Amino acid sequence: MDGLDVIVGEIAAEMAAAAERGKVADYIPDLASVSPRHFGIAVIMADGTCHVAGDADLAFSIQSITKVFTLTMALGAVGDALWKRVGREPSGSAFNSIVQLETEHGIPRNPFINAGAIVVADVLLARHQPGEVIAEFLRFMRTLAGDESIVIDHEVAQGEQRTGFRNMALANYMRAFGNVHHPTENTLGIYFHQCALAMSCRQLAQAGRFLMNGGRNPETGRSVVSAQRARRILALMLSCGHYDGSGEFAYRVGLPGKSGVGGGILAIAPGVASIAVWSPGLNERGNSQLGTLALERLVQRTGWSVFEPVVQCGV
Ligand code: GLN
Repeated sequence: MDGLDVIVGEIAAEMAAAAERGKVADYIPDLASVSPRHFGIAVIMADGTCHVAGDADLAFSIQSITKVFTLTMALGAVGDALWKRVGREPSGSAFNSIVQLETEHGIPRNPFINAGAIVVADVLLARHQPGEVIAEFLRFMRTLAGDESIVIDHEVAQGEQRTGFRNMALANYMRAFGNVHHPTENTLGIYFHQCALAMSCRQLAQAGRFLMNGGRNPETGRSVVSAQRARRILALMLSCGHYDGSGEFAYRVGLPGKSGVGGGILAIAPGVASIAVWSPGLNERGNSQLGTLALERLVQRTGWSVFEPVVQCGV
């Protein structure tokens, strides 16, 4: 067993024993019944080796972590024109907040809050039917993960469609400002289905490999995005990936990361590792309580941080 197997095994054992597990999101019907006892971790290294522990192969609702991947698709479709419709600043507000939209004329602060991701979904809808966009998104995720078994949980999507009144309000409000171009039920149809993607930690860490690897999928050798775009997506993950908890996550973990209300977090150590953790209990900012703690312990034991001295900057 190598050192990293020991570390992830220890972390999983520590998380199993943790008393403070946070609170499972209950505003999405199908997420309310998930047990807070779960914990999984998967670490995929640049050389392709994979280190897993706990429930690393159990699929969960990756929710807002999908926003990293739809952003990647939208940048591929329209390039920097996206930034006319979405900002790149941390919001300092809750993930589903509407407050800034009025004074900022319907332009969401960043692509990772709900309003921003809804605009990204609307961008993907241009010249396509909702079903085509959802199918294309699923194909993209399966290719990135190298796993054809990944599926969307339609019950989760339908539950959100029935109860997602805040997201409906956000979409309609932005439509009033002209920043949602399509019927809001179509735009939200994409958003709710992307959020309902079910993946395990192992699959999610696999899907994140292109971000650790300068934009290139190490399995296919194909470039998913340019190295510069990969760096920029990571910068947004670091500054905005945990909503109003982004500063705290950067302080404690020091890696770009994106959380989801299903309790997952994808974190990237550039050039080193793609890491996925999952524990359904959330802290008060809607980010996984034990997922964050596990990543904090992982970086403490490995020394991984984007704030380590750059020893090989090539100049
Ligand atoms: N589908 C969720 C919502 O729109 C995503 C939020 C999240 O994961 N933070 O409320």
